[in-house]
Amino acid sequence: MEAARNGRLYCVVPCYNEEEVLPETSRRLGEKLRALMEAGQIAPESRIIFVDDGSKDATWQLIEGLHAQDPLFQGVKLSRNRGHQNALLAGLMTAMLHCDMAISMDADLQDDVNAIDEMLARYREGADIVYGVRSSRETDTAFKRSTAQGYYRLMQGMGADLVYNHADFRLMSVRALEALSEFKEVNLFLRGIVPMIGLRTAIVTYERGTRYAGESKYPLFKMLQFAMEGITSLSVRPIRLITGLGITIFLVSILVLIYCLVRYAQGQTIQGWTTTVLSVWAIGGLTMISLGVIGEYIGRIYLETKARPRYIIEEYLADR
Ligand code: UDP
Ligand code: MG
Repeated sequence: MEAARNGRLYCVVPCYNEEEVLPETSRRLGEKLRALMEAGQIAPESRIIFVDDGSKDATWQLIEGLHAQDPLFQGVKLSRNRGHQNALLAGLMTAMLHCDMAISMDADLQDDVNAIDEMLARYREGADIVYGVRSSRETDTAFKRSTAQGYYRLMQGMGADLVYNHADFRLMSVRALEALSEFKEVNLFLRGIVPMIGLRTAIVTYERGTRYAGESKYPLFKMLQFAMEGITSLSVRPIRLITGLGITIFLVSILVLIYCLVRYAQGQTIQGWTTTVLSVWAIGGLTMISLGVIGEYIGRIYLETKARPRYIIEEYLADR
């Protein structure tokens, strides 16, 4: 058991157009892993997998270069851009076949490389999943900070189990990875699925830095899309809310009907054109919103039933 706990560590790093940060990231991560190997904390067969998520710049050429120089670095090339979550999954599923534990982290050095030591310590104590949790959000813009906070609250309100201020910097044992591989959903939101696995978990806090270089690959629109993905993949509560809303409005309309009939019987038919038009619009709007939300779910059901592959690996650069 002890030997297995000082096992083969695979670091999985998804990269989309990251040519600006990759040289520095590989240098720092490489140094870290070598130090850990020398200290006997991890096995010499440990590796770093860079997953190229269909980059348009020289990212893959850089990864090829790293691999040629040093077998410590491996590369997985996806056939096209599939998004952060799918790229991460591709890397983790590749690592699963060779590792004892894997750590996922961003390419831009926002995740602190030095938190790896503590993650390994928790792993050695028996944890199967170690969440990297950022200690503060000082490096974020006020906008990102408040939207993120609101989002966690919203998710909690919808009954989804998220680890507060944890993104995708985490260690998973091979056992946890195998459990993850059983989740077949196309609508992938890893930070929501991983807590569902259970097993023994631990938390390591770290200071999240700013992006080392280059631009965020998550512009506002993509961020909103990701947020929507999270809600619809983890919760059906919006649909229930809509049902509740519909029932309420229906009850109100019955009251209005009775009121109208009474007025009619009294011979005082109201000329309430305004109210009529207004209510038509209000209810029309609500109906439209409701259909939209339901449509979101149906669209996702459609994708899930097709069960298309979540990623396609074009090439895997590995020494073994
Ligand atoms: N990423 C990816 N595919 C994409 C978008 C992003 O693999 O389509 C990777 C990116 O290279 C980085 C990580 O996902 O390693 C997080 O992206 P980023 O740092 O741009 O997001 P932010 O930190 O701004 O939320
Ligand atoms: Mg980043």
